Amino acid sequence: MRTEKTEILIIGAGPAGSVAAGMLRQQGRQVLMLEKEQFPRFSIGESLLPQSMEYIEAAGMLRDVVEAGFQYKNGAAFACGDKRTEFDFRQKFSKGWGTTYQVQRATFDHVLAKAAERAGAELRFKHEVIAIDIDGETPHVIARSPEGEEYRVDAQFLLDASGFGRILPRLLKLETPSNFPARGAIFTHVEDGMPLGGSFDRNKILVTVHPEHQDVWYWTIPFSNGRCSLGVVARTEFLAQYEGDETTRLKAIVGEDPGLSKLLANATWDTPARQIIGYAANVKSLWGKNYALLGNAGEFLDPVFSSGVTIAFKSASLATACLQRQFAGERIDWEADYGRPLRDGVDTFRAFVEAWYAGSFQKIIFFENASTEVREMISAILAGYAWDKSNPYVAESKRRLGVLEELCAG
Ligand code: FAD
Repeated sequence: MRTEKTEILIIGAGPAGSVAAGMLRQQGRQVLMLEKEQFPRFSIGESLLPQSMEYIEAAGMLRDVVEAGFQYKNGAAFACGDKRTEFDFRQKFSKGWGTTYQVQRATFDHVLAKAAERAGAELRFKHEVIAIDIDGETPHVIARSPEGEEYRVDAQFLLDASGFGRILPRLLKLETPSNFPARGAIFTHVEDGMPLGGSFDRNKILVTVHPEHQDVWYWTIPFSNGRCSLGVVARTEFLAQYEGDETTRLKAIVGEDPGLSKLLANATWDTPARQIIGYAANVKSLWGKNYALLGNAGEFLDPVFSSGVTIAFKSASLATACLQRQFAGERIDWEADYGRPLRDGVDTFRAFVEAWYAGSFQKIIFFENASTEVREMISAILAGYAWDKSNPYVAESKRRLGVLEELCAG
């Protein structure tokens, strides 16, 4: 079998893989990215958070993203029956970007991957990693080319950015169950037919709570081309009640919310809906000997706060900073410098996700007398600043949310 060598092998050219590649190229490292699909390819996860812009910028990809012409985003709006509230991310506790984009991931992921390639990473589409060996001095993988040839790549370090493919967790048996109940999503893209300049704010994601089931919610993510991404998230048993193909089921569930039905009254449903279920995932460890798990290959919580891509970028940023020091000869404590710091922010999101499904977060955001200071602290987390420990809602997420819920109830 033919053997190749590289310094760093990245499995997967999604957001985590491409941003890691861009950052590593800035350090002058040799990077090979193997991606099993041909881009552009569809992916879900279209609403970014402002915090993610910092990492796009650090990876040297800001101009590529800005020039791609995605929908500008400055916040999040929430609706539940007659109740409405919105957060403008420019008004937030933490410093840093207050705006970002809503992106068609087929284009976005392609833009990032091409930017990584331009920065000098070698990118191979339609090359799938099929086996891994981490027992030797350095790791190696077996990959399959589009022609069906199997070849070996020896790397000094492996970054698994295979997303829901979760190649290392599966092959190395690192998977542990998520502590969230099994939920799923049905989603599509529609020609939304919402009048420009109408009451709907295209600069914000709209999250709508189902009128009867507080743990069922819909997303509406407008794009810059008159289309929007539309989806519903619920427990798998709730989704299973609806019969027919995915489009019929999604239409039926959307039809249960009068506000959303009105908003989408002129929409053209021209794309078959898809379903994804049981996506929440976790692992025993986010790193091991000469490898680290990035983005969804590590942990995935829940889509409600659109945190996935931001966490993927953060993981790339932390891991590549560790690699820079490691290649300079330093001994790295990967748990202290990668695993724990990454999980800190993920745990902040986790507290907010738990509060969302318990219904307490909804009470908090729809509370009319909330102070500006508290709203700005919440806004910062919704904007992705889940690692900013100067924010009390990061430092003590659960306790603070509990206190706030009592305040809103009283
Ligand atoms: P991915 O984007 O999954 O990329 C992994 C890449 O690895 C893929 O291109 C894949 O083809 C490749 N690959 C897999 N296996 C192999 C292999 N064996 N060999 C080679 N290549 C391989 N996040 C947000 O930020 N905002 C949102 O609004 C949002 N909404 C979501 C809605 C739903 C319903 C779900 C389920 C998730 C949502 N997410 C959202 C999360 C988001 O989709 C992910 O967190 C994000 O895509 C993770 O990026 P990644 O780079 O880790 O993985």
